[in-house]
Amino acid sequence: MIRVDSLHKHFGGFRAVDGASIEIETGSITGLIGPNGAGKSTLFNVIAGVLPPTSGTVTMDGEDITGLPPHELFHKGLLRTFQIAHEFSSMTVRENLMMVPARQTGERLWNAWFKRGRVAEEERALAQKADEVLDFLTIDHLAEEKAGNLSGGQKKLLELGRTMMVDAKIVFLDEVGAGVNRTLLNTIGDAIVRLNRERGYTFCLIEHDMDFIARLCDPVIVMAEGKVLAQGPADHIMENEAVIEAYLGT
Ligand code: ADP
Ligand code: MG
Repeated sequence: MIRVDSLHKHFGGFRAVDGASIEIETGSITGLIGPNGAGKSTLFNVIAGVLPPTSGTVTMDGEDITGLPPHELFHKGLLRTFQIAHEFSSMTVRENLMMVPARQTGERLWNAWFKRGRVAEEERALAQKADEVLDFLTIDHLAEEKAGNLSGGQKKLLELGRTMMVDAKIVFLDEVGAGVNRTLLNTIGDAIVRLNRERGYTFCLIEHDMDFIARLCDPVIVMAEGKVLAQGPADHIMENEAVIEAYLGT
């Protein structure tokens, strides 16, 4: 689905991503691991249109998407999760979900002006969809909670839920498990697997927790110093000497 070719992202003279080439197969849950500073987040940000590459290309289903802005990638079904912005923390969890399609297209603003009759109906459909998402993620009891009151792990589930409000094809998750307790991490893992199996989502996720990676991801791509070091099933990767050295060297 995604093919990254000889990607470079330099900050001044520093090569954060230094000629990385990766492929993400349709239907996979691909893991991206590597020591701190390996360039993982930078690679994600370039793929997701948040940062322009210095050189190299990104294609999605054969189409060149290099440097497209996030909203255009969003329409193609390529999503990267973001933390709940501060200004939405006083809105409820359900409202946060209902905003996703609206905020991305701006269409609903037009609807509000020109098609007032239809708005209430769309509002109901969105609320119903939001409730389905909350049910799927097993956080339906939090529908009326203010987003700002959620725990770290619950916020991560909400971030994942936002990708379900639109027709995502591939979702990039950057350390979705960071600072999340074991129980919620399992819930997040289960949600990822179910989205993959039942909705056909392809995932690429950066994660430090190797148990989590090993349970969910195949293949696993290892980055170090801006380059791809190894790629393969988790158990092979963990026996790879270059990989072990890269981790021990930090
Ligand atoms: P990872 O996610 O693998 O921990 P990052 O992609 O966040 O690594 O960062 C890779 C390297 O690039 C780090 O050394 C980081 O300090 C550097 N870096 C990231 N973003 C910037 C930036 N905007 N300006 C300068 N250096 C950056
Ligand atoms: Mg990072």
